[in-house]
Amino acid sequence: MNDKIITRFAPSPTGFMHIGSIRTALFAYLYARKNHGDFILRIEDTDKSREVTGAIEHIQESLEWLGISWDYGPNKPGPFGSCIQSDRLDSYRKYARVLIDKGLAYPDPYTAEELDVFRQQAKDAKKPFLYRLHRPESFAEWDGTKALRLKVPEIKRYTWHDEVRGELSAGEEMLDDIILIKADGYPTYNFAHIIDDLEMGVTHIMRGDEFISSTPKFLSIYDALGIPYPKFVTLPPILKDDKSKKLGKRDGAKDILDYREDGYLPETMLNFLALIGWNPATEQEFFSLTELTEAFSIDHIQKSGGVFNSEKLLWMNKRYLDKLSIEDFIEYLKPAVAETISKLPLFDEETYHRLLPTIRERTHLRQAVKNEFEAGEYDWVFKDIDLDTKILAWKNDSGLSDVLPRLEKLINILETTDFSSPEAIKEAVWPYAEEIGRGEVLWPMRVAITGREKSPDPFNSAYIMGKPQTLERLKKACAKIV
Ligand code: GLU
Repeated sequence: MNDKIITRFAPSPTGFMHIGSIRTALFAYLYARKNHGDFILRIEDTDKSREVTGAIEHIQESLEWLGISWDYGPNKPGPFGSCIQSDRLDSYRKYARVLIDKGLAYPDPYTAEELDVFRQQAKDAKKPFLYRLHRPESFAEWDGTKALRLKVPEIKRYTWHDEVRGELSAGEEMLDDIILIKADGYPTYNFAHIIDDLEMGVTHIMRGDEFISSTPKFLSIYDALGIPYPKFVTLPPILKDDKSKKLGKRDGAKDILDYREDGYLPETMLNFLALIGWNPATEQEFFSLTELTEAFSIDHIQKSGGVFNSEKLLWMNKRYLDKLSIEDFIEYLKPAVAETISKLPLFDEETYHRLLPTIRERTHLRQAVKNEFEAGEYDWVFKDIDLDTKILAWKNDSGLSDVLPRLEKLINILETTDFSSPEAIKEAVWPYAEEIGRGEVLWPMRVAITGREKSPDPFNSAYIMGKPQTLERLKKACAKIV
């Protein structure tokens, strides 16, 4: 018996990769990889009216960005043929024929207007509309021009097992003679996904809880075909920060590639999404994709919704940014800052390198760095400063005459100081600051270098500017005072 685990992610190409969909893809991927099985990317494009051009590429790009690879997909057919549903119409027709031959499928004889009348009657009687109550007595031949409907084999209460939710059940009101193949020749999702899962050998179906209510309908199709059920694995919904409801587009749930644009790292997104609705049953918080694969199990998928905590996402991104090499951090910032920094008059690479640790310390997202540059936060580094001497005096000073000798002493000290690190500068200046008073020395030092009341500490400021520039600014400040 072939007991290989096969999972699939089956998005519709509608142009948007919601983070909930990506989390589904990730879990299906992890489960397949963990068990040395196959993971299939199947494109469900049977609703042509909703299709968006370029969406298939968008889906692939999203998964590739995160490192979620597939064994079979739109660009990689399997032994079962194409992974794109619109290429698989022959399969759906073949199984439709099986059902017709069993007397379990029939062409819908009604016009749209007639169906409207039935619907209205049900509404007037305050009852749910059930097509099967109008099922024709005898079935005509299906010529492919009319919708093909299932004849529900048995009207009964269904009970089934869900790997996460346990026993689930639903009553007969959920069963109906649903459409299998539409009048346009395309199958419905209800029918197509079952045929595909069968032909692709899918063993575990992972999907959101919005499919639970339709499951009895699916089961009636499995039963009509006489095929075994795969295992159902219902993933918990992703809830808004305040847990009030499912996270939707209107609550700021973005397309996964928008997170990339904002500057979230793929490692962050994977790690963050994996922990929504699943837990490793340990204290471990940081996981690479490989570690997730090792740790993943269905047993630890939770039943209840998992919260999308945006603050945690930012925090996690910071942690992953801290792990980047300085070269990678420069590359990371590029899309956000390249244009702005190219316009700074005194910009030079070496100074930028010295500024980077300061930027990095406070950065959770590159967009914020762009904003800081645009707001002139680093102008003191890359533009001449116009020092207002009034702000040089420390709060205890009686006037600028107190400041001048200290700046002169600082120049003296720094002239023989090694500027290789902020620590080296601190070591040189510290004894003098201790002797005279920290504020009295460090405040004017920093203000003279940066021209600002708010800026990085004096040792970092001096380090960033470099020795010649620092000395020049201190001397200029002295000259301005006299
Ligand atoms: N095409 C369906 C969707 O995008 C897939 C559901 C399933 O996984 O069966 O929601």
